[in-house]
Amino acid sequence: MSNEKVVKSILYSAIKPSDSQEGKIKEFLTSRYGENFTLEWKEDKTVTDGFRLEVGKEVYDWTNAGRLEQFKEMILNAVGKKYDDNIIPLIKENVKDWTPKGVPTEYGVVTSIGDGIATVSGLKTATYGEILLFSEGIRGMVLDLREDEIGCILFDDTDEICEGSRVRRTGRSAGVPVGNDFLGRVINPLGLPIDGKGDIEADDYRAIESPAPGIIERQPVNRPMETGILCIDSMFPIGRGQRELIIGDRQTGKTAIALDTIVNQKGKDVICIYVAIGQKASLISQMVTNLKKHGAMDYTIIVNASASDAAPIQYIAPYSGCSLAEYFMHQGKDVLIVYDDLSKHAIAYRSLSLLLDRSPGREAYPGDVFYLHSRLLERAAHLSDELGGGSITALPIVETQAGDVAAYIPTNIISITDGQIFLESELFFEGQRPAVNVGLSVSRVGGDAQTKAMKKSSGSLRLDLAQYREMEVFTQFSSDLDETTQKQLTYGHGLMYILRQPQYKPYSQHQQVILLTISLGKYFMDVPVKEIGDEIKRVLEHFEMVHPDICSKIDSTGLISDDDRQAILKIANEFKAR
Ligand code: ATP
Ligand code: MG
Repeated sequence: MSNEKVVKSILYSAIKPSDSQEGKIKEFLTSRYGENFTLEWKEDKTVTDGFRLEVGKEVYDWTNAGRLEQFKEMILNAVGKKYDDNIIPLIKENVKDWTPKGVPTEYGVVTSIGDGIATVSGLKTATYGEILLFSEGIRGMVLDLREDEIGCILFDDTDEICEGSRVRRTGRSAGVPVGNDFLGRVINPLGLPIDGKGDIEADDYRAIESPAPGIIERQPVNRPMETGILCIDSMFPIGRGQRELIIGDRQTGKTAIALDTIVNQKGKDVICIYVAIGQKASLISQMVTNLKKHGAMDYTIIVNASASDAAPIQYIAPYSGCSLAEYFMHQGKDVLIVYDDLSKHAIAYRSLSLLLDRSPGREAYPGDVFYLHSRLLERAAHLSDELGGGSITALPIVETQAGDVAAYIPTNIISITDGQIFLESELFFEGQRPAVNVGLSVSRVGGDAQTKAMKKSSGSLRLDLAQYREMEVFTQFSSDLDETTQKQLTYGHGLMYILRQPQYKPYSQHQQVILLTISLGKYFMDVPVKEIGDEIKRVLEHFEMVHPDICSKIDSTGLISDDDRQAILKIANEFKAR
């Protein structure tokens, strides 16, 4: 009776099989399933080197890769049994009557599709984050597990998938190719080059989601990650392995700070990864040009999910970037990763979640949006020496609306990171750039990483600026000020000017130390504010030309003695009196 049941089989390949190939396949089917079968051929462009035969719920993978995999398994099994014998005859014997076996695979069916999201029923054992393969060769990732259905985001063009399309598990979690050849390249979040410079040879493949290092695997943050921006390095120092948020309204110089930090890593043996999420492609291309111009592209990778990319691609972008960073960190290298920006990332995730029918919470974000960012940022770490001592320093960027840091996403990320650099539109428009709000910015762990020289010379800067700001507000409307107040105002005003710094002009350590020492020593008190910029240039040049020993000593040791400080002040004052 069972012979009467018709066995349906479908053969997939890029090229239609020849008659003799078809004959052989039919022969095989007869031997396995009897005479009663149908064989249909379907074109599948992804099966280029062989065939894939699907019979009911069984799949016969006759592509080279599939055969090789089975062959390997068979040899390993055979050799495993009699390892000490000569294995050549053993292999010969096994190979003689070897045919690829039917590999039972589970199948699911697409129940609905749209906006880069597919709902699939029937794949009961699929796991979160697993890659699913649709019959048209399109890949998707499981993002939502429900009782009798799973929600899946799609990475490729979805036009070819329709309701009823078949879906197969791959057993692999989503990942990206990684390797040293990625340096200097612009890639998409799937690891494919988008800079037109040809293929990239990968050394490895890493899952885009992986657990953050545990406590035992870490060591405290104790080495500086210099940004080259005086205001940040002096008051909000960042250490290797730290997560420092850059937050501010639109067009306040957030990206500029990240780029300056990348440019400043030249010659410091740091690998930089810039993840762009939802930005204009034109901006990215301009950025690549600028980085190249400053010689920073050699050690930088740009992962770009631009505004025109679908939400799933934008969603995985920071995780892909982080996997690349981890690859380098585990080799003992120091990595700097910028996520520009996580507000757009949260918005992409929100649209995915709404499409997946998850219930919206505050500001319509799904309930797990905190976890979205915490599991990403926890992957920044300074590994212990046993694990090679590598690090990932993360600079996430968040855009606020009208300076509202109490909105949902900003508060979340502020609480996850080790500090924030708060940029203000008002300061930016006043010309105070970088527009860092000194009162609201903070770095919670970087202090230990600051060099002794920087720590010593930045001394009272923060306090002086705080006093100045208070006094400025207080004296705003009074006209006759006593001499001490007037002096303090001038001094504070000058300090604010010293913190102004053009883009792509990072200071080296000795420049920062000298500048801080002399400005806190009231060197710029009697310099008109308009001339401060030029005076800074002149005095630093003087030190580098006439006293290179002091400069190189600071750079190489990161130390400054009291005598050195006195010497610096003396040299500066003599220079001014010239
Ligand atoms: P968006 O919200 O659009 O991403 P953003 O906050 O990232 O903006 P940027 O793109 O970094 O801001 O900077 C905005 C503009 O300000 C740019 O034209 C940039 O060149 C300029 N800018 C940023 N920092 C400085 C600086 N220190 N000195 C002079 N100009 C600057
Ligand atoms: Mg920006």
